Amino acid sequence: MRILVTGGAGYIGSHTLVELMARGHEVSVVDNHVNSSPVVLERVRELAGRPFESHVADVRDTGGLAAIARAFAPDAVIHFAGLKAVGESGERPVDYYDVNVGGTLSLLRAMEGAGCGRIIFSSSATVYGEPVYLPYDEDHPLAPVSVYGRTKLMAEQVLADWARAAPGTAAIVLRYFNPVGAHASGRIGEDPDGVPQNLMPYLAQVASGRRAALRILGDDYPTPDGTGVRDYIHVVDLARAHVAALDRAAVTAGAEVYNIGTGQGYSVKEMHAAFCRAVGRDLPFEIAPRRAGDIAEMRADCTRAARVLGWQARHGLSDMAQSLWNWQSRNPAGYRDRAEDPA
Ligand code: NAD
Ligand code: UDP
Repeated sequence: MRILVTGGAGYIGSHTLVELMARGHEVSVVDNHVNSSPVVLERVRELAGRPFESHVADVRDTGGLAAIARAFAPDAVIHFAGLKAVGESGERPVDYYDVNVGGTLSLLRAMEGAGCGRIIFSSSATVYGEPVYLPYDEDHPLAPVSVYGRTKLMAEQVLADWARAAPGTAAIVLRYFNPVGAHASGRIGEDPDGVPQNLMPYLAQVASGRRAALRILGDDYPTPDGTGVRDYIHVVDLARAHVAALDRAAVTAGAEVYNIGTGQGYSVKEMHAAFCRAVGRDLPFEIAPRRAGDIAEMRADCTRAARVLGWQARHGLSDMAQSLWNWQSRNPAGYRDRAEDPA
């Protein structure tokens, strides 16, 4: 298939490109690099062993996007492009709605012009909000607590209405849990700008000497060891879920929603211990206060994805930790030549 990939230079997009190309799909990437380096795409070309086209463009530029889509004539689009920092979303709500909701509308217009009626969308477990029950299934009430979560929910609603109105179109919404880890080659991985806001990238920078110690944000949650529990998923498994979703989009119509996780929850302390094992030494940590808006536990029921998409996660915790350390130790400054903000 011919797949237009927005946000393809990002963390999840780059891993998905590798999986798509390994299965013989043709890809075209659109990214404005607001949160990624163009170097990523060079590394993906190297891993895939063949070229693909890429465009520096903003998904909100409907005219530019439409021209790219018309020329490439995609069978389907995978829409990763978006802003994703939960804390920042509360400070810059208009930017977040503009990119995450406005960008999705702009993309749908561009797809119309190119006669493309299939889209896979990056949503998030954060659309569920405080759990009424666990694990979350796709029918769990939707009550996101952050601006970011609300932009994702709104984009989901836009896609559902679009797919309902136009016969023969398909929107597959994937609600990701917590993606971690990196490609086995160690050539691509997660490279946050500035101080990492997420657990595993922060821990990786403690191991490489860029940060002094992990701050465990709360050890008084109602969980077995008091620290927050999440459903971490290896990014390569997540990338494979997009390949399965594309196959599904080719044979279905309307909007469908799938949780993409492992179904297994791990605490912050368990993640810290697993990463210390991968690195081969103890990494310092301190207990700090809870982070505002954090939920004690999040875990996915992924039975729908297994049943309908025929997809399930293959990689366990040690693979997640080892692949992250492989990427971080080979690229201590990420895609830059050197770290700009040493500890
Ligand atoms: P990322 O920031 O690494 O990748 C997003 C990419 O989109 C970047 O390359 C960025 O430059 C690009 N982009 C942003 N705004 C753009 C615009 N206006 N026009 C064109 N390109 C633009 O993020 P990621 O972790 O790879 O996440 C990909 C998607 O998955 C996002 O939509 C994110 O909200 C969603 N998601 C991520 C997580 C996670 O934990 N990483 C969890 C759930 C959902
Ligand atoms: N966390 C932590 N220290 C950090 C960052 C995160 O203890 O520096 C905890 C956080 O409170 C949560 C878990 O790690 O329980 C996962 O947080 P992350 O930000 O990675 O993901 P999300 O909150 O989006 O699930």
